[in-house]
Amino acid sequence: MTDILASLFKECTVEDIDKVVYMLQGTVAPPFKGIEIGMGEKFVQQAVSNASGVSKEEVVKEYKTSGDLGIVVSDLLPKKEGTLTVSQVYDAFMKIATVSGKGTQEVKIKSLTELLKNSSPKEARYLVRIPLGKLRLGAGDATIIDALSVRTVGDKSMKAEIERAYNLCCDMGLVAKTLYTDRKAITNFGIKVGNPIKPALAERLSSVEEIIDKIGECYVEAKYDGFRIQLHKEGDKVELFSRRIERMTHMFPEIVQAAREQIKGDAIVEGETISYDESTGEFLPFQFTIRRKRKHGVEEMVEQYPVVYFTFDMLYNGQDLTKKPYIERRSILEQSISEGETIKVSEKIKTKDPEELKLFFDENIGRGLEGIVAKDLNAPYTAGARKFAWIKLKRSYKGELADTIDVTIVGYLAGRGARAKMVGALLGAVYDEESETFKTVAKVGSGMTEEQMKTLKQMLDEIRVENKPKNVDAIIVPDVWTHPQYVITVSADEITLSPSHTCGRVDELGYALRFPRMVSWIREDKKPEDSTTVKEIIEMYDMQKHAKTS
Ligand code: ATP
Repeated sequence: MTDILASLFKECTVEDIDKVVYMLQGTVAPPFKGIEIGMGEKFVQQAVSNASGVSKEEVVKEYKTSGDLGIVVSDLLPKKEGTLTVSQVYDAFMKIATVSGKGTQEVKIKSLTELLKNSSPKEARYLVRIPLGKLRLGAGDATIIDALSVRTVGDKSMKAEIERAYNLCCDMGLVAKTLYTDRKAITNFGIKVGNPIKPALAERLSSVEEIIDKIGECYVEAKYDGFRIQLHKEGDKVELFSRRIERMTHMFPEIVQAAREQIKGDAIVEGETISYDESTGEFLPFQFTIRRKRKHGVEEMVEQYPVVYFTFDMLYNGQDLTKKPYIERRSILEQSISEGETIKVSEKIKTKDPEELKLFFDENIGRGLEGIVAKDLNAPYTAGARKFAWIKLKRSYKGELADTIDVTIVGYLAGRGARAKMVGALLGAVYDEESETFKTVAKVGSGMTEEQMKTLKQMLDEIRVENKPKNVDAIIVPDVWTHPQYVITVSADEITLSPSHTCGRVDELGYALRFPRMVSWIREDKKPEDSTTVKEIIEMYDMQKHAKTS
């Protein structure tokens, strides 16, 4: 895949490269801009009918047979050479994505019809899959980065540099364009207010002693179970981004307002947002905070269940702070925030004493929090990486893994008999960063209510696919395969070795979760690629072995 992409990139000009990159990702702009090409199936069918001159009824009939409008359109269009340029395709999709107001659907249909009329049957096959969200080339960020490196220097040696730039702006089109314009600009790439930075992530250890052994004297902070927000402020303009790098500004108007009053100057700040009950002052579970994602009713939620934004890091204050040690960033954060009702700074202690750390951990658990995050005082901000700069320690019960696992659902086993309208068990997979594939680790059949099992069946049937997706590696064959899209959190007793799972598989044995149970509803704040990784499962397995023997 890398070689195919690299040779495509070699043919691209500086004018076209960003457009080509966005379209490879099935979109026209970086995801955080929220510009989506989406067009309903019916409208795409209409465009196929208009472009081919075949009646809509006939198109629908063909579609029912093949299940893929891409195949339908390539069969129906007359055989001819296409005349489209990258810009024409990009501009048409941009128009489809951004047109609004009266007559929107007509404009969208017309734009797609024009594109199809000017394309060859083979081109049309792929073009219609873009607005349907079904392009699924399988080339993830890592492959695009590798290919950009190969195109530029002939091998993958520029990968780290390109990846660094990408982690600082989350815009692959911008990175590619910068690379084509001036290679040195990639080396000197800096953060930009308004472009989200890929969040740093925490490693895990299983005891307070190990934490102190690993990073020595550290800050230890409460781990709030809320919604991670990266706040960008430039003058009075404030934007909020989620851990998935989506724009969330509309969700928390009280944070936007408070930022103008409580944060000094221009800033990029990170923190955890958590709802509380105005009448009792109690923090509410994560599922409550995420309700704000619905477009309606945000104002009522602000009244009844306002949020506190516990800030814990500062990446910019007019200057890029990401390379500075945490102790300095934290001190700048504390000076830049005047604490008030909505924006606070996370609670912390500084310690090198395991007992003091344990006491702080227990206190936080006692208050109903998730645990603690210990932070290396000297570490820079590790954008997009899970490093020991942050170490989390979470509450766990006897006989339970020290942390929960986030798995992507790749299929399900059907419920039997009276449970025919429900899922029986979900086939859960973790993410393998190296191969960009999902590897199965568990069949999750408990922890769900019957209502949830019914809803899951409906939701999963909507994203079912006939065969195992290309980016899924599995031995178990479920009754229904699904496109990897939904992430759930599961807890388990332990990690074992099993011949049925592909996670970390060597010598016919892979890693598997023993007694997995679902402990969260679908995690709207996580993308499939944010699932726990194969590498983390192996680390957790080693940690567990270590805990048993020590
Ligand atoms: P988890 O499901 O355990 O929250 P995760 O994969 O979402 O894990 P990690 O980076 O592993 O994220 O764990 C740290 C997470 O904890 C952050 O993403 C953030 O959302 C949350 N958090 C809460 N309080 C803090 C804090 N004081 N410092 C850093 N992160 C915090």
